[in-house]
Amino acid sequence: MRIGCGIDVHAFGPGDHVMLGGVRVAHSCGVLAHSDGDVVLHALTDALLGAAGLGDIGQHFKDTDPRWRGADSRRFVRAALEMLRAHKLRVGNADVTVLAEAPKLAPVREQIRAALAELLQVSAGAVNVKATTTEKLGFLGRAEGIAAQAVVLLLDAP
Ligand code: MG
Repeated sequence: MRIGCGIDVHAFGPGDHVMLGGVRVAHSCGVLAHSDGDVVLHALTDALLGAAGLGDIGQHFKDTDPRWRGADSRRFVRAALEMLRAHKLRVGNADVTVLAEAPKLAPVREQIRAALAELLQVSAGAVNVKATTTEKLGFLGRAEGIAAQAVVLLLDAP
């Protein structure tokens, strides 16, 4: 049994949506990023890699690599899962927190949860999605960007 955590932040920029857990969420702006800037999937990838002792997302997927320009971040999670399989590890459960003043997560929370469960190949009950603001404090409170934190538990694969 192994535990890992991941954190990711992206600044808001031009656009009309943000990607969260592989779900397109309408918003008054987008994020500045090399890939699709999905903070949930980036934090989750880091949590998966961290739990397995495999470093971090930047080591495996350089943010200067043209292959990842505009990339669907589900690719990073799938690649991390592939590495876990090679180490005979599987996901037990995952808990994700999105930190932002907006967009509000409530309308899409279950959609994101289902998307993450499908991606991680676990039941929806093994995935939790939470959201919080920072009470208008700091860069998140000023709505300059969006952040996510993920914690995962890995179990030995049979
Ligand atoms: Mg990122």
